[in-house]
Amino acid sequence: MTHVFHRNPRQTLEFAVRSEGIRLFDRQGRGYIDASGGAAVSCLGHGHPDVIAAVKKQLDEVAYAHSSFFTTQVCEDLADFLAQRAPGDLNHVYFVSGGSEAVEAALKLARQYFVEIGQPSRRHFIARRQSYHGNTLGALAIGGNAWRREPFLPLLVEAHHVSPCYAYRDQQPGETDEQYAQRLADELEAKILELGPQNVAAFVAETVVGATAGVLPPVRTYFQRIREVCDRHGVLLILDEVMSGMGRTGRLFACEEDGIAPDIVTIAKGLGAGYQPIGAMLASSRIYDAIVQGSGFFQHGHTYMGHATACAAALAVQQVIERDDLLQNVLNRGEQLRAALRRELGEHPNVGDIRGRGLFVGVEFVADRADKRALDPKLRTHAVLKKRAMENGLMMYPMGGTIDGVRGDHVLLAPPFICTADDIEEIVARFTETV
Ligand code: PMP
Repeated sequence: MTHVFHRNPRQTLEFAVRSEGIRLFDRQGRGYIDASGGAAVSCLGHGHPDVIAAVKKQLDEVAYAHSSFFTTQVCEDLADFLAQRAPGDLNHVYFVSGGSEAVEAALKLARQYFVEIGQPSRRHFIARRQSYHGNTLGALAIGGNAWRREPFLPLLVEAHHVSPCYAYRDQQPGETDEQYAQRLADELEAKILELGPQNVAAFVAETVVGATAGVLPPVRTYFQRIREVCDRHGVLLILDEVMSGMGRTGRLFACEEDGIAPDIVTIAKGLGAGYQPIGAMLASSRIYDAIVQGSGFFQHGHTYMGHATACAAALAVQQVIERDDLLQNVLNRGEQLRAALRRELGEHPNVGDIRGRGLFVGVEFVADRADKRALDPKLRTHAVLKKRAMENGLMMYPMGGTIDGVRGDHVLLAPPFICTADDIEEIVARFTETV
């Protein structure tokens, strides 16, 4: 018996004992291709020598120095690196330990900003169905999964939900991308007006939806229309790029592709690539300045913020990605991955949609391609696929469940940025065999 309180106590887990490149190995020496980067985390694969060297060096110098007494050079350098490359004026980087903490900090920063500028009634958040923002209570409140929230009601944050940009299911026949984007922006605007703009703090969205809906890239102009609506009503735009950011889509920040900058962005997963737990929130100068000129103190913090070895790992990861031009590889290998999946599975009767951006790829499974009807939940298709894939030496991230009545089985493929063309063909071969 194990004393570890595993997330799923009924599941028997293999022990991971070794890792190298794009593979993990169990105690029997069996290798598994990490085709999902865990959950879009391990973007440099495993055992990268430059990252390991950077972490070891930092451990020898200073592993931990509490942020109320000291900063460290790696913490400053990582913030400079991110702020210099972030869109807009997201110049202020707040380091935390993971994605939920980053989202939590973003929600509290938005609230405090409005208190500082004398608009304390702006405390409602609008987010989207088919979204995931984390498991802490604030992040959970804005997340789209009603079933995740249910056991914990009532939640502290006042959250409301509008439709996601889910072209495969919701874009009408004959409706252009622009018309669809406008329809969704109109829905957000109607929700803001219903609540009263003076009561709304922010609209929160994943730039490219990840964990809940098998990767949903927005249609062209969606975020431009959303940005306009937010600006018209003084509502902040918070983009959650915990999964889609840090190069996963082929751009360092996924929203670069959409041609807009948010007021706050959250990142995590790929930032430290799994070598250390780290996340961050980047805030615009307008928000930062309001805090500095107001109370002068952000009412939020954590013991491990700006952790030195975590910052050292993340800085090394980001420098390797830039030095080795890996974002170009993300774009090339991503194209290849989607094309190969379409070639092998495009006509499969249960494959409804293959979509994504860069190496952030989703496959949606259905009972019937023609009417997009969902598979029988009793089949637990996503879970069965994950189990079979592991038997085939392939790690892929399954997603399933019912979100506001829409049932779905999805699989996420998010291989490391270092994948070669041969690696992609092997992933597709094992995936096809599994399906
Ligand atoms: N936001 C998004 C978009 C995520 O995908 C996740 C994790 N799947 C989180 C937030 C929460 O991150 P963490 O699990 O590191 O708390």
